[in-house]
Amino acid sequence: MPLSGRQPVESIPVRADVVVIGGGVSGLCAALYLARGGAEVVLLEAGVVAGQGSSANAGTLALQNKRPPMLAYFIEGVEEWHRVAVGLAVDIGYGRPGGLQVAETDADLAALENQAGHLRDHGIAVDWLEGSALAARAPWLASSVRAATESGADGYADPLRAGQALAGAVEAAGGRILTHTPVMEAARRGAGYVLSVPGGTVACDSVVIATGPWSAALGRMFGAELAVEPSTIMLTATEPAPAALDRVVTHIRGRLTVKQTAAGGCLIGGGWYGRGDFTRRRRDIAYESLLHNLRLGCAVAPFLADLRPVRHWAGYEARTRHGRPLIGPVPGQGGLFALVPAAGGWTAAALGGRLIAECVLTGRVPPLAEGLGPEAG
Ligand SMILES: Cc1cc2nc3c(=O)[nH]c(=O)nc-3n(C[C@H](O)[C@H](O)[C@H](O)COP(=O)(O)OP(=O)(O)OC[C@H]3O[C@@H](n4cnc5c(N)ncnc54)[C@H](O)[C@@H]3O)c2cc1C
Repeated sequence: MPLSGRQPVESIPVRADVVVIGGGVSGLCAALYLARGGAEVVLLEAGVVAGQGSSANAGTLALQNKRPPMLAYFIEGVEEWHRVAVGLAVDIGYGRPGGLQVAETDADLAALENQAGHLRDHGIAVDWLEGSALAARAPWLASSVRAATESGADGYADPLRAGQALAGAVEAAGGRILTHTPVMEAARRGAGYVLSVPGGTVACDSVVIATGPWSAALGRMFGAELAVEPSTIMLTATEPAPAALDRVVTHIRGRLTVKQTAAGGCLIGGGWYGRGDFTRRRRDIAYESLLHNLRLGCAVAPFLADLRPVRHWAGYEARTRHGRPLIGPVPGQGGLFALVPAAGGWTAAALGGRLIAECVLTGRVPPLAEGLGPEAG
């Protein structure tokens, strides 16, 4: 099986047009667009495909919780996910059930109205719900929720299924994926690079660093500074419950996303930080913050309080100083590119893959990636 287990040493290719480092959803999408664009692509992944943040995440493809100036970017991100998902051979649980963004306080109401304006300005239809209309639409919401906006744009894709499906698509397009193959060193060779991996080397014209929270270390291998830091985000899954939530719920204050999966379990998250020791690859629950997260979820949707949590976990996410992704050529390093999402990295992965492939294949930075280059980090 090409997607799991180590490929034999002798199968390590000695050359490729482009090497993508990192087999999370960003690297997989980059490899997919590069291969479809005609490049000979090899993806090198230190562990298994989508084994880190790309399978630990909540799968939310929400727009209502995205703010300007990145709103247009995420809108195109969700569109691109749609294009990718419908073209995959495997069902990845992708859908756009829509979403509710809720408000409780006076300040929340003002912020919700403001955000609804931004969404409408960007062409996203949003309905304002309160009183009996809100109660009829979402009877499971607490009475503390005074209003909500509803949009059909919010969606979901199952992180436990998407990685393998994307890897299959990369291979179907002619790309090669080598798992358990960490890049250990990088050196210049002519106009390109030669990368050392266990058991061999890979020479290539171009490299895309798509190693999420590990990207600063990868940058250093090339003598480049990528201003990326790791953070640790927590998530809770409950026992299965009768179908109640038919759409994604977010809070205007941020810090809450709730959804119910097809199997009935509810996922409660919202970007609450866990504890972690990145160098030792430890990711732990920060119970005090987790309680705040669960209390907020139960305050908004009280039926959650009756469900037993079956699992809490934490995963790594990349963080940049300005909160925007890094996408584009690395200055002063011909042929080296970075694709590192920040918050919302699942939502933007397909778009990031398309944009970086365009940079590599055409040598031009597409308009949506302008201002997102690593030099802006
Ligand atoms: C708990 C949690 C919930 C989240 N929920 C959401 C959500 O609902 N919606 C949303 O939009 N985003 C969400 N995110 C963020 C999202 O999951 C990430 O932004 C996204 O998955 C990042 O993908 P990536 O491919 O860039 O990085 P990663 O998935 O981290 O992949 C990077 C890969 O690089 C590999 N690598 C590292 N070093 C090397 C090396 N030397 N050689 C080869 N390979 C290497 C790693 O093994 C890893 O597989 C969440 C994140 C977490 C942790």
